[in-house]
Amino acid sequence: MNGRKDILIWDSLADALSLLRNPVKKIALVVHPNPDGDALGSALGLSRLMENIGHHCLVISPDDYPDFLKWLPGAARICLLNQALNVAIDFLKNADMIFVLDCNELSRINLLIEAFTSSDAYKILIDHHPGPELQVDCILSDTSVSSTAELICRFIEEAGFHNAMDAEVATCLFTGIMTDTGCFSYNSSKRKTYETVAALLDYGFDKDAVYYKVYDNFSAERMRLLGFSLNVKMEIIPGYCVALISLTRDELLRHQFQTGDTEGFVNYPLSIKGIRFSALFMEKENHIKISFRSKGNFSVNDFSRKYFNGGGHVNASGGESYASLEETVSRFKSILPAYRDQLSVYDE
Ligand code: 5GP
Ligand code: MN
Repeated sequence: MNGRKDILIWDSLADALSLLRNPVKKIALVVHPNPDGDALGSALGLSRLMENIGHHCLVISPDDYPDFLKWLPGAARICLLNQALNVAIDFLKNADMIFVLDCNELSRINLLIEAFTSSDAYKILIDHHPGPELQVDCILSDTSVSSTAELICRFIEEAGFHNAMDAEVATCLFTGIMTDTGCFSYNSSKRKTYETVAALLDYGFDKDAVYYKVYDNFSAERMRLLGFSLNVKMEIIPGYCVALISLTRDELLRHQFQTGDTEGFVNYPLSIKGIRFSALFMEKENHIKISFRSKGNFSVNDFSRKYFNGGGHVNASGGESYASLEETVSRFKSILPAYRDQLSVYDE
């Protein structure tokens, strides 16, 4: 694998393109656990494009994904590992090509490591997380790009696959860019992102409909859980520009929790003046799922890697803990003094 990290590497793309120019190939597209709009938009958009060229594709997701993404074109055919592990493993074994999308560490997809590493398929990673750690034949990695979906648009451009584009591919890729930039509120200060979106709009999809299908599509219980989280469960840590929300399993169940319901909750505390680091702790069946978000230079990627076995981006990361919810939250609080210089309250 090329040793350079966090940069776009197109050098080895020629081999991938010569494979893709000759259908029919079996192509697997694998995304990260708890896939978000970018992971699924990227995989579904690219798989539809490949199918338009004549290839046979399977999108593989480690687990279920939020309801507000179930309308995405092709979502009904996603192979979920918790329902059809053998189908995914068989497909990987016999695949000609495997795309890993929006996922920088194979260790995040434990169940597929063996099938992935032993497969003779041509492997290609397209991702915008820092420090990709995967043995692949070709890597397209750029941390400065808004989203993996935008990187896929660059790949399509570079490959000259425009003829296979259509409104559904554009819908999926736009969803990825829109969700990973929080509707163009962060990671979206580059001209290229808007040029990419402008080019997608030319395929004639309904942009406003994409917005309301993603953001105006919640259950009443999810909205009540959000209200409860902010009203009752949010803590502002005295002396620090840090806020956290912790949710017990019982609290989640009481609000008829469904996959994806807490998506975005961790962002809300950052809307408070002076808060620059926000954490969400959720009690799952056998572990605590943690989300971190920050504003500015504080790297929640480094923080999550160092203390909570996780990773992600500078301003958006996740991790996990196998201690109790209470212990995890108090451990989190006990770490903060080490970051007093960076995280103490300041007046703007
Ligand atoms: P979220 O908080 O929305 O689950 O994740 C935010 C970002 O952090 C995403 O880019 C996601 O892929 C990454 N992330 C979340 N959990 C983990 C984890 O346990 N390990 C690593 N390496 N990345 C994670
Ligand atoms: Mn992404």
